[in-house]
Amino acid sequence: MSDQTALQEPGCAICLGPAGDPELDRVHVWEDRLWRVSMSTSGYTTGFAYLEPKRHIPHVTDLDGEEAQTFGTVLARVTAALKQASGAEIVWLYVFGGGIPHLHVHLAPHREGDPLNSQIVRGDVVDEKLPSGASRIISRDFPELPAAEIQDVIDQTRSALTRTGVL
Ligand SMILES: [Zn+2]
Repeated sequence: MSDQTALQEPGCAICLGPAGDPELDRVHVWEDRLWRVSMSTSGYTTGFAYLEPKRHIPHVTDLDGEEAQTFGTVLARVTAALKQASGAEIVWLYVFGGGIPHLHVHLAPHREGDPLNSQIVRGDVVDEKLPSGASRIISRDFPELPAAEIQDVIDQTRSALTRTGVL
């Protein structure tokens, strides 16, 4: 366990565990020593679920310790179960962090035509098809940032990752 984050944070709705599920319209489905899965009992799609560490880890940027080591394995297992149970074509993930500051991954089984939001850039966007078949998103509401501003953050990120030995 990390010393950087408390096991539980007073006043945190997610630290309540299953006791907090009714207020959030969800039901407890599975847990192990580190992780918990709950699922929405209302909404606009079936199979909408939440994967969250039991320990109070505020944001994905704080992920460490055993949770960091097991995140990929548990994510694959849970999303596979959701895909099978819901009959979805794919499972989308959303991680925001601006609401409840306790890491939770929104797991959203997606089917063509459902009301899930697929946009990274808000507002009116156009999909420009690339030769490879991938899409480039063009916003009609926002101008693109200057290339130098984008490149600066690319360079800083590469430098930070190289310094810490992640790459
Ligand atoms: Zn918490």
